[in-house]
Amino acid sequence: MVSTVSSTTVSSTTVSSTTVPLTIRHEWTAQQVLSLFRQPFNDLLFEAQSTHREYFDPNRVQISTLLSIKTGACPEDCKYCPQSGIYNTGLEKEKLLEIDKVISEAQAAKDSGATRFCMGAAWRSPAAKDMPCVLNMVKEVKALGMETCMTLGMLTDVQAQDLADAGLDYYNHNLDTSPEYYGEIITTRSYQDRLDTLENVRGAGMKVCCGGIVGMGESVMDRVGLLVQLANLAEHPESVPINMLVKVAGTPLENEQDLDPFEFIRTIAVARIIMPASHVRLSAGREDMNEEMQALAFHAGANSIFYGEKLLTTPNPVANKDMQLFDRLGIKPEEHHAHPEQEEEMQAAVTKAASDKYFYDAASS
Ligand code: SF4
Repeated sequence: MVSTVSSTTVSSTTVSSTTVPLTIRHEWTAQQVLSLFRQPFNDLLFEAQSTHREYFDPNRVQISTLLSIKTGACPEDCKYCPQSGIYNTGLEKEKLLEIDKVISEAQAAKDSGATRFCMGAAWRSPAAKDMPCVLNMVKEVKALGMETCMTLGMLTDVQAQDLADAGLDYYNHNLDTSPEYYGEIITTRSYQDRLDTLENVRGAGMKVCCGGIVGMGESVMDRVGLLVQLANLAEHPESVPINMLVKVAGTPLENEQDLDPFEFIRTIAVARIIMPASHVRLSAGREDMNEEMQALAFHAGANSIFYGEKLLTTPNPVANKDMQLFDRLGIKPEEHHAHPEQEEEMQAAVTKAASDKYFYDAASS
């Protein structure tokens, strides 16, 4: 049972420091979203790009850095995930990192121009014994003057409040797919568990990063269902990562059929149209996309990426390749995340910044 979908909310939103009366819809029907998906490709891209330009600078892309603070041995059974302890993927496990290591990685990210630092742990939920350390990480990274984001699995309302009180700005927790297809992918936690965590995060006043994964054998109606769920939340997630399945050997989805790349672009475009003020993140799977496809994703409204060599545990295009592509496309890092005076430094520094400890939110933890 999925119960936190709001049916009629319409609100105004502040975008890029200018208050604009924007109509943000929260009552999308599956039929309406399917109609968007089924438009001729060029019509869909035109609508997505036009919407994008009403809400964002089309030539700015947000760049974040993410560190895995605890890797592998997760008790959950997400069929796409190499960090699940249930599958034998040969992944090297790592215990919760020492605070000093996290601070030095955050400092390196800051020196590269990043202003948001995301920390991910492969847990079902944070254990009570780990919370003091995690809260300390938030405080210390915050003290560097960076925005903070975490993905730690399910949260109780008390844990969410503790994280918010420590200064955590964003929490990532993905819905992964439609409620109907969900049971094919994960059995160890329910869709409602995920919605409950999102509600706890919102209740604590934090911003939400929430999206899903496509290419897992789902139907177009499942992609529709995922986007309807996201767009009908009481508040749209501030960040919406759209991941393309990375087929990792040893996971149950390692031999899944490739999704038509244009279906992926359509998913980005529809997300842009129905969640117009959210950052849509081109996330896991970018390594397998050529530059033309990434450019098409930006044109469809994607305006956020992670840079670094890894995204959680799968390869990510190296930072200098990202910057070269940005340069060829005339794209600059978004000001909110890299102040103008930092941009030059960032563009130079990211070419050497990618250590193998940089990750991004491929997983839904
Ligand atoms: S996606 Fe997250 S919760 Fe699922 S197995 Fe991977 S680390 Fe665990």
